[in-house]
This record gives sequence, C-alpha cells and structure tokens, in this order.
Amino acid sequence: MKGRSNLLYPSERPVWRRPADASRQSVQFREQKTGFRITSQEQNAHLTPPGGPALSEELNAALVDASPHATLVAIAKTFGRRAVLASSLGLEDVVLIDLVSKLPKDERPRIITLDTGRLPAETYELFDRLEGKYGVAIEVYFPEAVSVEALVRKQGINGFYSSVEARHACCDVRKVHPLSRALQGAEAWITGLRRAQASTRGSVRKVEWDGARLKVNPLADFTLEDTWDYVRKNGVPYNALHDRGFPSIGCAPCTRAIEPGEDIRAGRWWWENPNHRECGIHTARAAAMRVSAKREIEASDPLLEKTTK
Ligand code: SF4
Repeated sequence: MKGRSNLLYPSERPVWRRPADASRQSVQFREQKTGFRITSQEQNAHLTPPGGPALSEELNAALVDASPHATLVAIAKTFGRRAVLASSLGLEDVVLIDLVSKLPKDERPRIITLDTGRLPAETYELFDRLEGKYGVAIEVYFPEAVSVEALVRKQGINGFYSSVEARHACCDVRKVHPLSRALQGAEAWITGLRRAQASTRGSVRKVEWDGARLKVNPLADFTLEDTWDYVRKNGVPYNALHDRGFPSIGCAPCTRAIEPGEDIRAGRWWWENPNHRECGIHTARAAAMRVSAKREIEASDPLLEKTTK
C-alpha cells in the first residue's frame, strides 16, 4: 500500500456530536415513544463522517496501489458494518463476496443485493450457492410494490425499451430507490466497478465521494482476465449465464448474450447508445437522488447538529 492515511483507523477519525441537553431530550422522547433504549451508536447510525470529499481523497491516495484484499481490509477496519457491499452478483461481485467472507466476522461489511423482480433464474440460483458456500447472509432489497404498479400502469410491462427516459424510470423504481434504502446508515458502499469494464467507467477510482458517502471500488484496476483468474483460482461460484455468452448480467429483459468480438457490456441495454449506457445506480442522477434522500433524513431530525472534536 502506498502511504497510509491517518483516517484509516476509527480511533483517529473525527466524531459527530450533538448538543448535550437538546440531544438528551430528543433521545428521551424517542426512548419513551419506542420503549427501547437508544444507544449513541444508533443515534448516529445514519450520519456520514465529516469532510467526506477530503476523506475520499485521502483514502484514495492511501489505497491507490492497494490490492482488492488490502483495500477491503482497510475499509473493514475503519467502517465495519457501516460499510455495505452492494452486490448484483455479477462476476466482480462474487470476487468481492469471497474476499469479504475472509475478513474477521465482526469487521465484515454488510452484503446487500437488489431484487428488481426481473432477474434471470440463474441469478437466484447463484444467490443460494453463495450463501451456502460462504455462510453469509445477503440482505435482499425489493422495490416498493406501489411504485412498480404505478410504473407498469404508466409505461407497460416492458416500457423500458421505448426510450432512455422510460428505462431510467424503471431503473429508478427497481434499483435506485431500493439501493438508497439499503445504504441508509452506511458511511461507505463497496462496488465491483472496474475501469476496463466500459467506456463510461474509465475514470473510476479506488475511493470516491458520491455526494452522500464514500464509494469504494476495490477492483478498479482489475482487468476481466484478473477477475476470471481470481474466480478460478479460488473456486468462487459464478452465474451459469457467464458460460453461455453473458459476460455482464443484469435484469433478464435488459441483458442478452454477446457475439465473439463484441464489447463485454454490449449485451446490456443493447438498444441504447453505448456512451450513455450505464447501470441506473451509477449515474450522476442516481447519486443526486441518494444525496437528496440522505438530506431528507437528516432534515427530519433537527437535533442532528454536527460538530467535530
Ligand atoms: S435493468 Fe431493465 S428491467 Fe432492470 S430495472 Fe433497469 S430498465 Fe428495469
């Protein structure tokens, strides 16, 4: 690892505090309402650390040459379960699940996945194999039923083919909003993004600031060969569709097999312009929605005054 950030370890990180008297009243009120004691950790569970963009710069500089394993070790030591591995169970994600399963249990990030309701059967089958092999619980987040019903009434069952806007509307309901819920309380989220994956991903960094929290991409430097190499050497379970011409897998109606020589993401949203073809959850628009969701939560608790020691 090149250099080492002094913000990598929890004891050295700034903390968030709230005004003692007002905060106490708020906590007492909430304790009376719920009948449960609220710990200080729970009070702060949905806050992100101060200095987000600066922290991401510092962590990125420290981890720029770190291996995926070293990156995950550093993030796990710093954030533990306040970090979330957002997994679509793609080839990169199964590598990350394997790596996370090798971390000490009490430091492991949560693992979440989104069930959009349109996934191929092979992805569900992989889900079972991963939980069985690693003994990890993958938390599944679903879209809101009423939102899906309204979407389908408006654009039809496969309306996403009709325009980029319609596709984004579907990804918003089925992926972006559920992800936003899954990331509530997280200070960092971990993804399987690689720079070599697509023209839209050439500038992916190890650690980024997405406006709401840190975004960590341990495989940013990996090639497709590196990824397969890891999977084969470590006997990592992977989606059966990879052996049938699907290098990149998402929802069934938006994924097709590719022809030899085609770009590896050519089978995703193949009817759209490749330069705008990006998974709904990694667009700037989706990041802005997560920022606004986080602000809404913070605004709903007027006592969350942030100071550093
Ligand atoms: S990938 Fe396709 S089916 Fe899945 S959420 Fe996006 S538009 Fe909808």
